[in-house]
Parts: sequence; C-alpha cells; structure tokens
Amino acid sequence: MRAARTTGESETVNEHYDVIIIGSGAGGGTLAHTLAGSGKSILLLERGDFLTRETDNWDPRPVFVDGKYISSDTWYDGDGKPFQPQVHYFVGGATKLYGAALYRLRPGDFGEIKHVDGISPAWPLDYGDFEPWYSEAEQLYQVHGNGGEDPTEGHRSQPYPWPAVSHEPRIQQIHDGLAKGGYHPFHAPCGILLNEADRPRSTCIRCAWCDGYPCLAHAKSDADVIAVRPVLGRDNVTLVTGAEVTRLETDPSGRTVTGVVVTRDGNREVYRGDIVAVSAGAANSAKILLNSASDAHPGGLANGSDQVGRNYMFHNCKAVVALAKEPNDTVFQKTLGINDFYSAGKDYAYPMGNIQMIGKSNAEAMRGEKPKLTKLSPEWTLSDVAQHAVDFWLTTEDLPKPENRVTTDADGHVHLAYEMTNNDEAFRLYGELRKILNHTGMAEHHVLRKNFYMDMDIPVAGCAHQAGTCRFGTDPATSVLNTNCKAHQLDNLYVVDTSFFPSIGAVNPALTAMANALRVGDHLRERLA
Ligand SMILES: Cc1cc2nc3c(=O)[nH]c(=O)nc-3n(C[C@H](O)[C@H](O)[C@H](O)COP(=O)(O)OP(=O)(O)OC[C@H]3O[C@@H](n4cnc5c(N)ncnc54)[C@H](O)[C@@H]3O)c2cc1C
Ligand code: SF4
Repeated sequence: MRAARTTGESETVNEHYDVIIIGSGAGGGTLAHTLAGSGKSILLLERGDFLTRETDNWDPRPVFVDGKYISSDTWYDGDGKPFQPQVHYFVGGATKLYGAALYRLRPGDFGEIKHVDGISPAWPLDYGDFEPWYSEAEQLYQVHGNGGEDPTEGHRSQPYPWPAVSHEPRIQQIHDGLAKGGYHPFHAPCGILLNEADRPRSTCIRCAWCDGYPCLAHAKSDADVIAVRPVLGRDNVTLVTGAEVTRLETDPSGRTVTGVVVTRDGNREVYRGDIVAVSAGAANSAKILLNSASDAHPGGLANGSDQVGRNYMFHNCKAVVALAKEPNDTVFQKTLGINDFYSAGKDYAYPMGNIQMIGKSNAEAMRGEKPKLTKLSPEWTLSDVAQHAVDFWLTTEDLPKPENRVTTDADGHVHLAYEMTNNDEAFRLYGELRKILNHTGMAEHHVLRKNFYMDMDIPVAGCAHQAGTCRFGTDPATSVLNTNCKAHQLDNLYVVDTSFFPSIGAVNPALTAMANALRVGDHLRERLA
C-alpha cells in the first residue's frame, strides 16, 4: 500500500491518481480489484476503517441487539423525522455484514415488467450484456451453486466455481417436501469460502453467525476479503481509510471533476485524479452529488435530468419465522431458494418475488419478539422457540418512483422520502409461503413475521438493499449515467455501486453491483490504455 501524503489542514494532496474510487464496498472494492492489474495508479477513499476482528463479530447481542456495527449517522425521513439508517461504514462496505446470497438478476428483470402498482422499467442493456460479467463476478467471489436447478435463471457461460452448499437434514427435508408438492426449490447461490470436500482445510467453518454478522474467520466472500485486501500490496494501489468524501469540485465548465474533497481526522483534504468513480452506496452517492452543487450544476453534480437521488429502491421484504413441532438443528440455514412465484402466473397477474432462507434464529437475537412468539407457543421458552424456528426471507420488487428519493438539506444531511410499493404482491407472497409450508410439516398458522437483521418496524431505516438514485440509461433527460455508468454531463465522473439500477428485481443486489463494477472496469481499462 502506498501512503497518501497529507500536509495538514486545508491542504491539497499533491499526488495525482489515474483513478479515484470513493467507497470500497461491492461496487468500489470490486472496481479497485479489477483496475489494480492495469498498472494505473488507483486511490481508494473509504470513510470507514477495517472492521475489527473480535469475538463480538459472532455474538448476536452486540450485532443485533446493540447494533454495534451500524453507523451512528442520523438521516431524516420524508416528514423530517430523524432515524438511524442501517448502513455500515467499513472497508468492504455493507458486504462485511451481508448474507452473501449472490444471485444474478433473472433475464426478465432487464425488461419491462408490469406490477400491481406500476411498471418496473427496462434496463438499457439486457441479460446477455451482463452475463459474462456475472460469470466473472461469480468466479472472483467464489460463489457456490448448482446451475440449472432454478427454472427462472438465465443461461450461463460458465458453471459456478464451487458446488452448491449442501442442505443440512432439516432443510433437505423441506426441500424434498416442496419438490414432492410440485415446487422447484433450488440451492441458493452463496459466497462463502467453504470447501465441503476438505473441511479440515476449509477457511469457512460453516457456522451459524453468517447472515448479518461480520465473519471472524474472514471466510465470507465480502469485498474487503476478496477484492480490496488482495490488491493492497501493489505499488499502484493506495487505500486511505477514515476519509469521508464531502464534495466533488469541477472546472468552470462543469465537465470535469478536478478535486475530491475529503474530511479526514477533522482536516480538509483534496485529492485529484483523471477519473473519479463514486461508489458510496445508493444514498451516500446521491448525497455526495447533491452536496456538490455549483454554478455549472445548480441542482447537484450531474443532475441536469433532476434524477439524482430519485427512484430509490430497497425491496419490499419480510422476515418470517415458521415454527414446527420438530426441532430445527440447522447451523448454516441459508442454502435454499424458491422462485416459483417470481413471475406473473395463472392465479395472479403480477410477479410476487423470491423466497429464501435467512440465518437461523437464536434466542438472543429474537429477544425483541418474545411476546408474539410466546403467544404462539405459550409453553415454550424463547430458546425452545428459537430451536424450532425455520427462518425465511421474502423479497418482492419495489418500484422506482421519482418521489421515493434522497435529498440533502442546507447542512448536507440525508433526507430519505420513501413509500413502499407492491404491498399486494408482498402480501400474496407471504400467503404462498404459508401454503407451501403445508408440504413441509409446518402448519400455516404457525408462521409470523419477525424482526431479524433489520428493523421492519422502521422500514425506511432498513436500507440494506438500497439501490437506484443515479440510474443509467441512454437518454440524458431521464437518466444520470450512460450505459458505461459515466455521468451524461461530465467527462470523467462515474458512479459504480447499486445507484445505477433502473429497477431492482426481486433477488439480492450485490452480485449485480459486483458484475457491473467488472464491466465498467473493463471500459475504464480501455479508456485509460
Ligand atoms: C445485513 C445485510 C445483509 C445483506 N445480505 C445480502 C445478501 O445476502 N446478498 C446480497 O446480494 N446483498 C445483501 N446485502 C446488500 C449488499 O451488501 C449491498 O447491496 C451491497 O454491498 C451494495 O454495494 P455498494 O457498493 O452499492 O455499497 P456498499 O457495499 O455499502 O459500499 C459503500 C461504501 O462506501 C463507503 N462510503 C459511504 N459514504 C462515503 C463517503 N462519503 N466517502 C467515502 N466512503 C464512503 C461506505 O463506508 C462503504 O464502504 C445485505 C446488506 C446488509 C446490510
Ligand atoms: S458460515 Fe463461514 S463465512 Fe459465514 S460467518 Fe461462519 S465461517 Fe464465516
């Protein structure tokens, strides 16, 4: 790692970089990784630090009850009410805590889809354009899966690099019950460094502390472990942590970013580079652009279309727990997916979404749900409930609405106005889950919603899957970025995180952000050659 030179308060850092990347998560970390081999000088500016390895990493109380790894930021909702967003500022970004379910969007997601509350718009590129980058991202992030099991998936040019993570007996039972009932359960794609054929040498120990926890063993395919750390030894890559980018400055014409303004250790620093890629996560990328308004860009940098900050999405999700008489001894539960309701069907004219497992409940993390859970099974202790619980995560696509948006106030703080869409689809998906559980020995009246890795009582705060805010497209009047994720209005500004999504589909977003970073990285390598 090359140390960046700082010379004190309000000083410009003299070193000039070929590429400056802001944020080291799924988008920015992956972009840094793919550009590192180009030999060009790369500066990665990250507002957080490396996440500390400590026993708390795998302890549900600090992680879920105390929210130890959640930023202390305050954002404001559409009514100006403050809340603490569930965002994570570390090298690796949100992927340090993610569940590593690494799904490709389905081919249909790239086209226009009719939903109960409106239209999910088509992307300017299709599945075929992304496919090679999905394959490359799966190789890089060492995704485990079995191609061909899920009837909704698109073609793949390469098999998964690792076989699917096996189901434990209880999940296999559920799989078999569903298959017998005529459904198409599949092995969920998963980014963990598990070698089931050689467990003594496997980096991943297959533990229960994965989904929503940092990995103490550094065995999760997060952007820190997979993308950033491996390139830090290179002379051409510099990482500066604790560096919060507050503003981008341009030349008088407004066509070129000339300075990246950072607050670090209370000092103002300015970094310069030929190319600047903003990858701070959907809300924070919009924040940086909006807070960079100038005479040339009065509504915010790159915001001639008035689309920066708009079309914010984060999925219409439900965490659900099903209780069975039979105990669930599963340790690593996130191995099963169901996409039988992903597309419109004969019984309902709209798509409903994806069903997958989430990390296994434990009594500590379920503490907040005690009254409801014990009402279902009054004779059970919380530990009994946790032991018998089978945990599902339901995802319905939400729509990119212009009024669902990030704005900033005079002090530069984030305001996030959001109203959920497609509630009817989400409600029906929940109904379908209850029905299919009858095939698995779990009664449908023993299913209820729960809070698990995000607080569902404050939907706007649970921004784990945030996307949109700087959508890409071919028309500068209706999009912020072109198809290379370069700002229409600037020559050297890119946005490379989940902000570029014109719609979000109903599967987890990280692999698409990673694949897109590889795609944009390829374009940048050509541009810089
Ligand atoms: C608990 C949890 C579970 C999840 N599970 C899954 C899952 O199973 N599968 C999946 O696909 N997705 C999952 N996600 C979502 C996934 O992690 C995100 O979609 C993905 O990380 C988004 O990538 P990104 O590059 O847009 O943002 P991030 O990965 O969040 O990266 C943004 C980076 O920018 C930095 N930053 C922010 N502001 C600034 C600034 N001003 N200056 C400098 N740096 C800045 C942040 O610190 C961060 O490192 C989960 C997320 C959470 C929180
Ligand atoms: S299951 Fe593997 S990757 Fe996940 S937290 Fe445990 S050791 Fe880490």
